[in-house]
Amino acid sequence: MQLLDGKLTANTLKDEIAIEVNSIIAKGGKKPHLAAILVGSNGASETYVNAKVKACDKVGFDSTLVRLDANVSEEILLNEVRKINENSAIDGLIVQLPLPKHISESKVTEKIVPEKDVDGFHPINLGRMMLNLPSFLPATPAGILELLERYEIETSGKHCVVIGRSNIVGSPMSVLMARNTKIGNCTVTLTHSRTTNLKEISRTADILIVALGKPEFVTADMVKEGAVIVDVGITRVKSEITKSGWKLKGDVAFDEVAPKCSFITPVPGGVGPMTIASLLKNTLISAKQRK
Ligand code: NAP
Repeated sequence: MQLLDGKLTANTLKDEIAIEVNSIIAKGGKKPHLAAILVGSNGASETYVNAKVKACDKVGFDSTLVRLDANVSEEILLNEVRKINENSAIDGLIVQLPLPKHISESKVTEKIVPEKDVDGFHPINLGRMMLNLPSFLPATPAGILELLERYEIETSGKHCVVIGRSNIVGSPMSVLMARNTKIGNCTVTLTHSRTTNLKEISRTADILIVALGKPEFVTADMVKEGAVIVDVGITRVKSEITKSGWKLKGDVAFDEVAPKCSFITPVPGGVGPMTIASLLKNTLISAKQRK
């Protein structure tokens, strides 16, 4: 078994981005600039946004973090999005999800101009992805593709099973793994909570991508010998041994599954860092397209 080391790979990717930023600046260009909007102070969202801002700093991007109260009206949030859309100094905008219940996530996502939608959630970017046209790919699936590519995982002709059909991970992942591209050309099965024979299906996967948000859901009996396992899940669970009082768990029971597979992502240090690196990559692409 070999680890798909997302932390290491993301650091390599970030170093490559930093080199490009330096070269842009050396030629008199401007630093790429990512803006993030955080509504409320949900612990996990706060952690993710702070990690994104820190990553911007590491690669030499400018960043702006707009914090809004949890009770903010949808109108005020949409107005913040509009202001950033119109701000020519900003190349990419993300609105950290989830949003409070009184705000429509789809309305907010659709308000971001597709050219600055570096999370790749806008219907135009998702539609272009479906058609295999240039677009911002959703950051988590894009990070997984990058990880598979850098570890030279053969995907063509393989059976890829995706567990979870969210708009931000499972559904786009299933489309990307089926596309006629270097990392793609899989036969894909997309499973979800209504799938009746999940274990039978997952046991046939050469590549198993798990994104359902249930800690240690995938056990050894659900996995084929020699499979490649990508664990997207991140759930905070209580811990008596960490200082913070919690730790992160993936959707795969790592200790029992790892010995069975050829490659596996750890949690933490797998898909999470790749998601952030992909977001930076999309922001760099946006900055280059907009100059
Ligand atoms: P989500 O919106 O929470 O949806 C969960 C999906 O799992 C749904 O499609 C649901 O099916 C399916 N599901 C639930 N129970 C199931 C079961 N027993 N069998 C099969 N499928 C089942 O998903 P998400 O936003 O993609 O998040 C999934 C996990 O990934 C979470 O832990 C999240 O924190 C993590 N995540 C990590 C990153 C990262 O960068 N590493 C990024 C995004 C998300 P239905 O559609 O039928 O309800």
